[in-house]
Formats: sequence, structure tokens, C-alpha cells
Amino acid sequence: MSNRLYRSDYNGYYFAKSDLSGRGERDWAYDHLPREVCTLTEEEKDLEEYMEQKRDLMASCSIRCPYGRPVFPPAQAFLLQKEFIMQNDLFCKVFRKMPKGGLLHVHGSVALSVERLINLMLDWNRKIQDNSRQIKIVEQEIPELKCKYAKGTLLYDYQSGEIAEYAVPLEKYLSVKKKRKRLMGMLSLEKRGEKSTSEIWEEINIIISRTVELFKDREFYTRYYEAFFEECIEDHIRYVEIRCDFEKFTEPEKGNWQKRCEGYVVTKASYFKDMMTEVKPDQPDGEFIDAILEALRQTRRRFKEALFNAGIILNAQKSLNPFVKSEREILCKRIDAAIALKNHYINRGREAVIGFDLAGMEDGGCRIDHYAKKIIYRPVGYGYQEENGEDGNEKLRIEQIAFFLHAGESNWYFNDNPGAAAVISKYRMGHGFNMNRVSEVMKGITEGPARMLVEPVLEICPIYDQSLGYCKDIRCHPAYEYMKNGIMCVIGNDSPQVLGNPGVSFDLWEAYVGMGLNLKMLKMMIFITYLYEFTTYATGKVDVERAKSEFGQDWKNFMKEIKDDL
Ligand SMILES: [Zn+2]
Repeated sequence: MSNRLYRSDYNGYYFAKSDLSGRGERDWAYDHLPREVCTLTEEEKDLEEYMEQKRDLMASCSIRCPYGRPVFPPAQAFLLQKEFIMQNDLFCKVFRKMPKGGLLHVHGSVALSVERLINLMLDWNRKIQDNSRQIKIVEQEIPELKCKYAKGTLLYDYQSGEIAEYAVPLEKYLSVKKKRKRLMGMLSLEKRGEKSTSEIWEEINIIISRTVELFKDREFYTRYYEAFFEECIEDHIRYVEIRCDFEKFTEPEKGNWQKRCEGYVVTKASYFKDMMTEVKPDQPDGEFIDAILEALRQTRRRFKEALFNAGIILNAQKSLNPFVKSEREILCKRIDAAIALKNHYINRGREAVIGFDLAGMEDGGCRIDHYAKKIIYRPVGYGYQEENGEDGNEKLRIEQIAFFLHAGESNWYFNDNPGAAAVISKYRMGHGFNMNRVSEVMKGITEGPARMLVEPVLEICPIYDQSLGYCKDIRCHPAYEYMKNGIMCVIGNDSPQVLGNPGVSFDLWEAYVGMGLNLKMLKMMIFITYLYEFTTYATGKVDVERAKSEFGQDWKNFMKEIKDDL
């Protein structure tokens, strides 16, 4: 490989980001990872050279393009660049084919790409016998109920009651030209104009309000997850950890279903979902988890050659305030139900529920410290059982379930949530975007005991961070510096329906091109996801040998597959 400081092909000096800061070798963060993962073979060095050339070419063309306006893809909104990325060699020949291991950060309610979601709904309407379960769409704005039902809301015929005259069968709606595109626009962020982060969060809630009723049907829910798993397998993902809301299926034939409550507003759909879905901590309803496991079985049956597995991280919304008694009760009950469900499935020989998380907009909400004091570092039963309070004899919630908290999704100088989240989250943290603001936390993590995994590992979601306005130019994303400084990272996609980034390939492409990662870093990020695939969270045990051999095999197959293509 050419000297990184002087490159004849650039007619001058070329400085790579890595040459200018941090330790030259860039691998000290991974000193404890297996050697066979960290060292590149001759073939891998060739691949790295190919990848770097493609990236450098893109960068130099963008900077010095004599014919048009210079464009650098990671600096532009992902959706504006998606077509370009999909045709880019790095994407088609390398990232799409690369084994991804685990997708460790994705939200179940927005996990399936919008194209497949629409196909799934159309297929559903074709096959479903029972007319009352046909999916309909609210075709136009309902003047007196526009806060309760957004235009484009999808629901089953039996749910359409008060708005029946505005709801038309989905296939009828889509038979009109351009309506498919319009529906896609209503179910994702699409190419919208400049919006502030809080406006985008409202928009995401409106999108969620459009599909939330569909998940109340067990059969649809199962098929939805089957389609999602299939989409993952196509992108060479073999393991998924789903951030999942508590769900309660309805039985319309018994008249047993819940209308949207008085005061419902679409811009707070996630909050209302938690408010309206009752969870019993002592006898939680795990039918939705059974449905996901059923989808997993079906998927394995269909893709016999693919190994595929999934785990569930149960969620509550951060918009629930731990200082408001009724909302604190909802939060406490959800964590306790998650503990009960975790144990329930373990007793049946399956680690289905692996942990708990708080999701939703971070800015404008309470500090994680407050959730810690009021809820997480309290015994089971606290917050809703009067007699079972603060006698201090019982195990705390934090001792009974692993937390995988979202933290640091903020540009505010005073946001120090990663500090509390890093203490509470034993294995991983969601995003951790602003960790550089709390350097003492970074130091604390990296100077911890020397182990193979420096935890908590950050789940970086580049396209999400860009689309929500936390980091509009991926070249400025701090994840690269985190890794260089010893913080371990993996890449997730967060909300593919909303963002348009199914699989992990798009996010890996953005991270590689925008942040300037090298192949070794990519390999290690992917290997870390294998370690989690073979982790038993209940005991904290990792089957390192299995992770190594599965990763080794998948990577070998990948190298063989791309060999003739490059
Ligand atoms: Zn997330």
C-alpha cells in the first residue's frame, strides 16, 4: 500500500484522518480481542486497498469535481444519497455481501422497510377471510378528529367505528396512481424539508400512530416479524435484538378491543400506547413474545440453511415522567413485568427477554438519574404496591434485569445522561452520541478492567443520528474518535421503516465512508456482535470460542464470494 502521507496519485500530500490524531495503529482499543480477528490476511489487505481506493476516489471527485457541484455523500441527507449508494461498488460488491452478525439496535414497531410493510398489508387483505380484519386507510383528514387520527392511518375494519366513512380498503386507495408513493411518504420521514429535532420526533410519532393499531392482531404481528427477519437474512444478519413495546392483542370477535382514548394526540402516539396498554407485573401477558418466537420458528423453517436468532429488549417510553405518580406506576410495572417475563421464558429453557430500555425523545425529558433513583434502584413492587416498599430487604430491579439504556441523543451542553446510563447499562448503551461531552465517562469506561469487551459498548446508528438532526454531516460523527479512544462500538439501524435504511449495509457504508474507518475496525465491530449473539445475558457468560468459529466461517465465505468480483 502506498505511503499514507505522500501519494503519487494525489499529486501531493494526502493526509488520512488516522495519521493526524490518536495512536497510529488504531487498534489499541482492541488489544484484548482475538488475534485472528484483528490481523488482516494478505487477501484482506487487498480488499482494504480496494475499499480505500473507492473511498478516496469518491472523496477526491467530490472535492475537485470540475464538471459539477462537489457532492460528498455522507454530508448529504441519506435519502437524497440512497440511490447513489445503492449503485456504488463499495455498497453492492462489499457491504451488501459482508456478514453482519447481529443487528443490536432496532425498534420493533418501525423495523420493517416501508416497501415491504405495504406489500405485507396488501397480501394480508388478499388472504384474510374475515372481512372485519381487512386493513383500511383513512383517506383524508378528518376535520373534527385530526388530532386523534392522522390522514393515512391504517386500521382493521372492526376498528374503524367512529371514522368508518373516511376509511377505504387499502387496495382501493392504492389503485389510484401515485398513491403508493404518497403512502410511503406518510409511513417514513422521506425527503422532507428542514425540520428541528423536536418536530421530527412529532413526525415519527405521527408515523407510529398510523400503524400502531395493526400490531393488535396476533396473526399480523407474527407475519410482520417474519417479513422483518427475512429482510435481515437478506442482508446477511444472523441475530437481532429487538427493542420491543409491550403489546396486547385484541379479540374482535368477542368485542374485546380498545378505542383510542379521550385526549389521544397523534404527535404523542408512543406515550399513549404505553398509557393505554395495561401491563400486569405479577401476571404479564407474554403472548406478543410468543408471537415473535413463532415468527422466528417459521423463518428458520423457511430458510433452512440460515442460522437465525433473536432476543427481545422490552421498552417503556421516556415521555413517562417518574415524578408523576400514575406514570411512575406504569414504568415500575413494566420493568417488573419484564423481569417476570424474562424468568418465565428462562424457566421454559429459552432466553427470550434479555433486558429493558427506555426509548423516545431524550431532550425535554427527565434525566436518567431520576429514573435511576425513582425506579431502577428500587425493589420489585415499589411504585405500585403500598405494602411492598422501602424495607430494603428485597433485591433491586437493577439486580434482576439487564438495562440497555438509550442515552446521549442530544446536542445540549448540559446533557450528561451517558454518565448514568454507562453505570446502569452493563452490556451496551443505545447511541451514546454525545459521549464526547462527558469525557470523564469515556475515561471511566476505557480504564475499566482489561477484558475482551470494554463495556458498555455503544450502539451507533449513523443514519438515525443524521436524519434526526443530531449530526447532519456524518463526517463529523464522533464514533470514530470513540473507537480510537478505546470505546467499543457496533452499528445499528434503529428505525428502518422511518429512515429508509433496512439491514445494516447502509449504516456501515455511511460509517465507513463518512467516518474513515478501516477494515480492521469494521471486522471488529462485526465480531463484537457475534460475541453478543453467544452471550447468555442472565448469567453474563459469553461463548467466545463459538463466536470466533462462527465469525471465522462467515467471514471466510464472504472473502471467497467477493474474490472474483473485485
Ligand atoms: Zn433507538
